[in-house]
Amino acid sequence: MDNQLQRELIIGAALGRMVVLRGGSMDTVVTETYLERLKDVDPSLVERACAELGDQRREDYTTIVPPCPDILEIVERLEAEQVAPAVALLPPDPNEPTYRCHYCLDESSGWRPFKCPEVVCGRKREHGPHSYVARCQCWFLRNAATIRLARSRAEAKHEFVTQGMRDVEAFDDGRYPWATKL
Ligand SMILES: [Zn+2]
Ligand SMILES: [Zn+2]
Repeated sequence: MDNQLQRELIIGAALGRMVVLRGGSMDTVVTETYLERLKDVDPSLVERACAELGDQRREDYTTIVPPCPDILEIVERLEAEQVAPAVALLPPDPNEPTYRCHYCLDESSGWRPFKCPEVVCGRKREHGPHSYVARCQCWFLRNAATIRLARSRAEAKHEFVTQGMRDVEAFDDGRYPWATKL
């Protein structure tokens, strides 16, 4: 079987399972559009992102088929999680500079590694210990204005509000749990 076809089968099946778990079904046109958009993404990460979205309780205002940016946002987070432990294990630099952010040590993507259950991840289902990443508070401080603007534009055009946009709101309200955890 050729590689591209195999990738499409993996992603197509993952999308289908996710949508069934969210109480709907996937039609061919939507599947093809998503496959086109996700064609350069690692299929195993798409699978994991879809499994996560399939397990999430669906809010009333969200669509049965999650918007592609939501899938890509989780893929980006999973990619960061794959990299994060290696970064955390680097030995301390003897000439360590002073960081502007002492939580993430100025990690440019703003992702910080955590271990659950030491710092609980917030998943509702019972689950074993695992590592994960969450955005640092400095990332919100740097990007909140831009993201708030993107959100108000999305809402005005009845487009999708992504998890990142909802996180900014949680951060503003002091409900974002990873803001200052060390
Ligand atoms: Zn930071
Ligand atoms: Zn957890």
